[in-house]
Amino acid sequence: MDHDIIIIGGSFAGLAAAMQLARARKAVLVLDTGLPRNRFAVASHGFPGQDGRRPDEIRARLRAELAAYPTVSFRDAAAVTAQREGAGFRVSLADGSGIAARRLVLAYGVRDSLPDLPGLAERWGVSVLHCPYCHGYELNGGPVGVLARDEMALHQAMLLPDWGPTTLFTQGAFTPTPEQLRGLAARGTQVEATPIAELIGAGTTLAAVRLRDGREIALAGLFLAPVTAPACDLAAQLRCATRDGPTGPYLAVDPMQATSVPGVFAAGDLASPMPNATLAAAAGVMAGGAAHRSLILDPDLTASA
Ligand SMILES: Cc1cc2nc3c(=O)[nH]c(=O)nc-3n(C[C@H](O)[C@H](O)[C@H](O)COP(=O)(O)OP(=O)(O)OC[C@H]3O[C@@H](n4cnc5c(N)ncnc54)[C@H](O)[C@@H]3O)c2cc1C
Repeated sequence: MDHDIIIIGGSFAGLAAAMQLARARKAVLVLDTGLPRNRFAVASHGFPGQDGRRPDEIRARLRAELAAYPTVSFRDAAAVTAQREGAGFRVSLADGSGIAARRLVLAYGVRDSLPDLPGLAERWGVSVLHCPYCHGYELNGGPVGVLARDEMALHQAMLLPDWGPTTLFTQGAFTPTPEQLRGLAARGTQVEATPIAELIGAGTTLAAVRLRDGREIALAGLFLAPVTAPACDLAAQLRCATRDGPTGPYLAVDPMQATSVPGVFAAGDLASPMPNATLAAAAGVMAGGAAHRSLILDPDLTASA
């Protein structure tokens, strides 16, 4: 075998898994294409010890820490295929080369699909946001909006008044029930049924949304739940089971981050309905430790999932 473990995806989850395995002196290869989900944000918030740092700076620090461990190597390359081979796995890269390892940790994250509205995509991560805990504080109490994709928008519309005066834009996606309207009113959330036509403001900042009837509503930030999909199809190639999540499918894992396929572990946004850098790193810690234990306790990969 070329490596004990290949980790596919070198961001919060993958690098946290690598650290556990490095400290067990395992031969680890981290494959990464350098496109983490939060790359659109100027600062990452809430990651312990790193609050407010640039996402690329955090990853560079994590990689620098790992570089001190001689059994860890990195390749800035995409894994293209993955399959079971004997008591391990074979991963192929875009250049056609293949690498063998005894275990896999999948940590390649998800891709976001955004609503198709003029002025929205270019503001993603700056003034169009997915998570108030990550970026709501920086809006300094200014007015915020929630762009509905479905009824789930109620959740954000109930929370967001803690960050600023809130308007729920139902966008034709659903009609709140009288009971839901009472709950929103109790939180001070306004409800706007006329759809948003475009977002306006200088550069990537948001000043207002223009509605289809021409009215403008001032906003400092617009929150939405993107549709998510795995960043690539390697887990599908391996036939890992999935679950339906609120924004898209995610990999089914047990409490040790083992997927349904023996020897394949998964962590981070790819294997969770809760996108968060700290949670991704915590799951990576679990996956790294579990992959290590699997090498000892199930060396021939004979245990059933
Ligand atoms: C705009 C935005 C801002 C956010 N801000 C915050 C924040 O402030 N605080 C917070 O806690 N959370 C934030 N999040 C959520 C956070 O980004 C994710 O929870 C976190 O990045 C998940 O980490 P991960 O390691 O699972 O995946 P990612 O960070 O997405 O990393 C996956 C890695 O895998 C690589 N990859 C993909 N396919 C392959 C392949 N085939 N081969 C090799 N490598 C591959 C990618 O290039 C990438 O580097 C934000 C999300 C968004 C969308």
